[in-house]
Amino acid sequence: MTNESSKKRDALFIVKVLEAEGFQARLVGGCVRDELLGLEPADYDIASSAPPSSVEKALAAKHIKTLGFAKAYGTVTALSPSGPCEITTLRTDVKNYGRAAEVKFGANFKDDAKRRDFTINAMSMDSVGTVYDYFGGRKDLATRRLVFVGDPEQRIKEDYLRILRFFRFKVRFALHSDPIALEAIGKCKDGLTGISKERITSEIKVIFSYEEILATLQEMHITGVLRTLFPNDPGLRFATAQQELQPLTPRQRALCRLWHYVHNETRGCLVLTRLDKQLFASFAKADNDLQSTMQQNDLASKLLFLDSIEGPRKLQLLPVVYAFLRYQYHLDAKTLQSVEGLVETDRQFGHRRHSFPIKAKDIVSRYKLSAGPRVGMILRKLYHAYLAGEWEDPEDGIKMAGTLL
Ligand code: ATP
Ligand code: MG
Repeated sequence: MTNESSKKRDALFIVKVLEAEGFQARLVGGCVRDELLGLEPADYDIASSAPPSSVEKALAAKHIKTLGFAKAYGTVTALSPSGPCEITTLRTDVKNYGRAAEVKFGANFKDDAKRRDFTINAMSMDSVGTVYDYFGGRKDLATRRLVFVGDPEQRIKEDYLRILRFFRFKVRFALHSDPIALEAIGKCKDGLTGISKERITSEIKVIFSYEEILATLQEMHITGVLRTLFPNDPGLRFATAQQELQPLTPRQRALCRLWHYVHNETRGCLVLTRLDKQLFASFAKADNDLQSTMQQNDLASKLLFLDSIEGPRKLQLLPVVYAFLRYQYHLDAKTLQSVEGLVETDRQFGHRRHSFPIKAKDIVSRYKLSAGPRVGMILRKLYHAYLAGEWEDPEDGIKMAGTLL
């Protein structure tokens, strides 16, 4: 049995335990959507009429441990054998989704669905597999339409993050956007500036990670969302070279695309990790130095250029930087050819960057020098000569050091 189906089995077990105690309980939200699409849900969420303390009690009786840190918001996390599963008590009077100041329990499933963002995310399913669909989510899923539950403008104003969630679900499931939703997004986009950078970053990184992003970026551009987030929105020029990014991981793909949006940005709406910043630094370096490197036709200059953009070796940035450069210059055949030349150079001679056979101590002991900047300078010259293929044998290198003293 796969891990996913054991998640479903565990979630349904909890639903049945709560039902046996006389409460109502259903699977809700994304997992119902994914089931209807024939996909394996990442998680199963449960909504129930049981108050949090009753959920804890019922599960404890079945030896299922729970975490109650979000109890005040109506959520208990069950630690099932297949992993955690959230059980949320049906509730109303929640001002902002998931960040409620006041919570009132006692709502029904329709109220619960009404609070959810999109019709396709607002369905629920009981323990025998009956789907409850109060807002036409099933039809929208079949016709691949992305539609807000209720009035889009009002729903966006309750939580501006829903604008980015809209584009995230659009790109993920290749959905057609409800035109009224797009209009509301265009009208409300400035509200995004009030959302925390962390939340924006996590949505944007996911949106930018999908392979087929063009239609979504177009809408983010036309509605002005991109320009609200990135005042230097470069438009869609860079969005068309999909195939160049195909070999990359989703994160790397997202960063290749995002670089165009953030590298000249002073305000910066994203919070990037140290690794993200390292990759961006390599992109900037490559973009900046590529042309001048190509004009110097010697091997050592090319290998030094590759050295300088690779970053600490274990990060293995080169394949990503290559993909980035192809993406960046896909409309410029001449530069693209140069990039291909670099890839070839790396394939043939790149190993030299890692196999330099002399250490400072070898020179220090041979020539009775004291370690210091002078030795560093000699080593750099030796390294350059080695990259250029002027010597192979370490003994020849050490002899050459003698001529540099
Ligand atoms: P994923 O597979 O990416 O987790 P999901 O649909 O489960 O997709 P979540 O962000 O985990 O998405 O949220 C779970 C459910 O909670 C959603 O399907 C939706 O019904 C509801 N939801 C989450 N965030 C919001 C929000 N900001 N506004 C309204 N409803 C939301
Ligand atoms: Mg989820």
